[in-house]
Amino acid sequence: MSVIKNLQFKAEEFEYEVPFHITNSVATSSKVITVELLLDNGIVGLGQASRSFRVNGEVFEGLLKYRDEILDKINGLDVRNYRRVFDQIDKFSRTAPSLKAAVQFAVLDGLSQTINLPVYQLLGGRKDFIETDLTIGIDNLETTVIRAKEAFDKGFTTLKLKVGEDLNHDIDRVLAVAEATEGAGYIVDANLGYTAKEAIQFADQMYKNGVNIRIFEQPVDVYDFDGMRLVRNNCHYPVGADETCKTKYDALRLVREDCVDYINIKLMKSGISDALAIVEIAQTANKKLMIGCMGEGGIGMGQSVHFACGTGAFTYHDLDSCFLLKEPQKFRFKADGNKLYPTF
Ligand SMILES: [Mg+2]
Repeated sequence: MSVIKNLQFKAEEFEYEVPFHITNSVATSSKVITVELLLDNGIVGLGQASRSFRVNGEVFEGLLKYRDEILDKINGLDVRNYRRVFDQIDKFSRTAPSLKAAVQFAVLDGLSQTINLPVYQLLGGRKDFIETDLTIGIDNLETTVIRAKEAFDKGFTTLKLKVGEDLNHDIDRVLAVAEATEGAGYIVDANLGYTAKEAIQFADQMYKNGVNIRIFEQPVDVYDFDGMRLVRNNCHYPVGADETCKTKYDALRLVREDCVDYINIKLMKSGISDALAIVEIAQTANKKLMIGCMGEGGIGMGQSVHFACGTGAFTYHDLDSCFLLKEPQKFRFKADGNKLYPTF
């Protein structure tokens, strides 16, 4: 048997190596909830939630209070029928998406140990490893260039650059980075920071200077579908949605609005169930995918490595919180340079 008997939450906090600065947000640490799901065969499935108030509206202390309610819904279910467990956890999609991700992954982790098959193979086993980018937060020009060059020299050939607070400063910083890291490709992420016209102006300057931007991520506000389409139709680069796409319904709307080229899936926004649905929606609609993260520690990062390798669905991987946080633990994955391997 592999029946759920108990659920424990453990609160942890990890510091960032350097403060993580994106549009309208500076974080010095990341609080996570590690989830332990106890089965009647003695196996403990692990998962981890990295909450986001900015994206999900989640408050850390509030999430901790969901433990009894979640356990009440899944107690006595067998993880071999994991879709039945997922259906119960889906009830927390709106209020606690990061917890939904953690508990759903813990279910898969418990099943994986029960049948002796790694989660990434349970999910399809499409890839043996993935390559991640590294994110450079907003900073002054000199520091931005130093950090970008350090990352590029370490083998990160795709760099994710945060922009969106100051258009002219952003243009100067990204052009300086491009000059210092010739041969790299860039994902630029405005985190809602631009108007559509500012975003088009930014992209124009990049294109005129030959900057190899692989995705222009979330240039405009969450609900500004028209603005997103305006940017997509008036810049030379692929445009991606991140904050705009949390659930499968958001993905469907993005397809219908035909306003993006890429969708950025994060387990912390969608859980496993909606992330799987978004993969299918995007692939059916010929949209491309990237996968990102919040401030997950090693356990949370391992979840995304298994999901990304199992589905093999992603053109770009932004799974770098394990490199940005002072948290040495790596759970069910190992890193070699920019390559991340799922382990068992
Ligand atoms: Mg983003």
